[in-house]
Amino acid sequence: MSYSVAVRALCEFSAKVGDLDLRFTPSPTAQEGIEGHRRVVARRAAGYEAEIALEGEYASLKVRGRADGYDPVCNRLEEIKTYRGDLARQPHNHRQLHWAQAKVYAWLMCQARQLPAIDVALVYLDVDSDAQTLISEPCQADELQAFFESQCQRFLVWAQHQQQRLAERDRDLQVLGFPHAQFRQGQRQLAETLYKAVSTGRCLMAQASTGIGKTLGTLFPLLKAMVPQQLDKVFFLTAKTPGRALALDALRQITDATAQPALRTLELIARDKACEHPDKACHGESCPLAQGFYDRLPAAREAAARVPVLDRTHLREVALAHQVCPYYLGQEMARWVDVLVADYNYYFDAHALLFSLSQANQWRVAVLVDEAHNLVDRGRGMYTASLDQGQLQALRQSKPQGLTSALDRLNRQWNALYKTQHAPYQASEQLPTAFVGALQQCIGLIQERLNQSPAEVDPQVLQFFYQALQFSRVAELFDEHFLFDISLREGPRKRRLATLCLRNVTPARLLAPRMQAARSVTLFSATLSPRHFYSDLLGMPADTAWLEVAAPFRAEQLEVRIASQVSTRYRERQASLAPIVELIAAQYQRMPGNYLAFFSSFEYLQQVAGLLAQRHAEIAQWVQAPGMDETARQAFLDRFVANGQGVGFAVLGGAFGEGVDLPGTRLIGAFVATLGLPQVNPINEQFKQRLGRQFGAGFDYAYLYPGVRKVIQAAGRVIRGDQDRGVLVLIDERFAEARVQQMFPSWWQTAGN
Ligand code: SF4
Repeated sequence: MSYSVAVRALCEFSAKVGDLDLRFTPSPTAQEGIEGHRRVVARRAAGYEAEIALEGEYASLKVRGRADGYDPVCNRLEEIKTYRGDLARQPHNHRQLHWAQAKVYAWLMCQARQLPAIDVALVYLDVDSDAQTLISEPCQADELQAFFESQCQRFLVWAQHQQQRLAERDRDLQVLGFPHAQFRQGQRQLAETLYKAVSTGRCLMAQASTGIGKTLGTLFPLLKAMVPQQLDKVFFLTAKTPGRALALDALRQITDATAQPALRTLELIARDKACEHPDKACHGESCPLAQGFYDRLPAAREAAARVPVLDRTHLREVALAHQVCPYYLGQEMARWVDVLVADYNYYFDAHALLFSLSQANQWRVAVLVDEAHNLVDRGRGMYTASLDQGQLQALRQSKPQGLTSALDRLNRQWNALYKTQHAPYQASEQLPTAFVGALQQCIGLIQERLNQSPAEVDPQVLQFFYQALQFSRVAELFDEHFLFDISLREGPRKRRLATLCLRNVTPARLLAPRMQAARSVTLFSATLSPRHFYSDLLGMPADTAWLEVAAPFRAEQLEVRIASQVSTRYRERQASLAPIVELIAAQYQRMPGNYLAFFSSFEYLQQVAGLLAQRHAEIAQWVQAPGMDETARQAFLDRFVANGQGVGFAVLGGAFGEGVDLPGTRLIGAFVATLGLPQVNPINEQFKQRLGRQFGAGFDYAYLYPGVRKVIQAAGRVIRGDQDRGVLVLIDERFAEARVQQMFPSWWQTAGN
């Protein structure tokens, strides 16, 4: 059996040596790269061949790829690279990698066309100045063949191990049994529907409540589909860390059932969480784990490849044992494992590692999106950028060398944007092109400074640079799905300052290609209703399947009461305090135990908690505070002991509104004193208008659906298993409205108060 590898992947494996060097040289964007290639090709004479598909073999290795260009008149094979900055500062090992790619293509070309010799050229295009640098070397076919074979030889041993492991993995997966004696109620239906979706190449949206074992119910069918559907990778993507831990647990259960599991799983974590030297920079002169990284990588890679579930702890252990950076070892291992457990942004953001690796290696992937209701806000956030004028002013005052006039020009453009603005907030549908032009000029100048003397660039300049770059990248994507808005505030000496934001409203256009690129994407959550809201905003393909798994709970497990005599609207808030306190106290006296009480804001929560303490000091209470760290959050949850008594006060949509598991008597009831609607403010009003124009239901899309979803999520904390019993008190007159009740889980039976 042969092992197929792309030229690029082969060279990245075998030709990288020396230090990891990520000294900041912002590379051209993918789009700039594609256009740069086009420009180079367009300048070549007639008869020039571009994108030539080539392949060759060495032992059981099949090497394939597309050479950038071949000039038959000069007999020259060209490898085109786009760049920014000073080519002379390009690290030696980057250049070496480019030569390796060019030479491998050159050999494949000699072999395909029976050429005894060929010129091999690297063509570097500066995307800013459009200048081209061509470095060429005449080569004999036999030299190139020897080079090709040496690269293949280095890869072959690893490839053979991979191949053997994949064969064992496939054997394991074919006989893989479900790790429990039986499926839970609803779990089999979810697993079967997902299996069918991936088998027919469709996406799936699955709404399924807690308690049916969604993590195992989605991972298991994908693993079973891996062999018949020839999937290269499964991505399990989560919005938050606890979701990753559940997925890793499920994968451990699956691999533990096998004596010597061949399946490989990797957890990817953010750079700031994985970094061992946060005070250093990612290059060999600064960080010891970057120095000689590629020289020690082969041994580290081999050790890492032996670990079935390479979670954060195991990855760190292997990395430190081999003195390489754990974060970048993780990025390398992403190529060699079967299941990746990572945050959403690894697949969905503009520079997503897993998406670009999938594209570059033509992987066939299946994607699971856990708690997928979060993808709307997370997706918007990935394509939103803002800039604060206060930061620019501070930078101007520091008078950075060579930048002052460009920053002054930028400031003038900035001021011109709000010269006639009187309201504190103003939104527009137009991109401020003159401003973006001035910003790009600043980016270019800082870039030049970075190229010349990176160590001398002030951290303040660098921070501004990153933000400016992000802003200009979002500006490139700006269209009718974005807003440009200006928020004014008063700065020092009563001067007005403006924050500019390019705000994504509907991420569908940007996410849709990610959905289409996979063999299948499954979105799953307890709250994916209404279906059209999520499919419209997330860009799901038209043939996406839908599944609603019946909850495994019975109506009698949860007493749902609607206290419609109370209004929690802002203007009636004061009047609502005493009735809410009495509702809580009455319920508590009727059935003492642990309760969660949710409110729309910290202020509201504190008012009710204060009054409850005054009037019913006998009821123990603990209160969520703004910005709690992980320890404080855990301490809050630890108060919910089995058979305990008291009320925990929390903010709806905050840290305790979802993803919190308090089974049995740890939690016997919840009060929700808000409909959860996002605050009415100018930004949300803009969203309402825009979404109304796009989907004809602005209020529902901007306020109602996201609001009620939070209520259902919070309420979902009460019943966690089929033995749980509890009460839910929904406090607001609007909970009695039919359009709100339509969104409630179908197993709830509501009663008035
Ligand atoms: S340990 Fe930190 S500084 Fe060093 S290479 Fe890794 S991420 Fe960069």
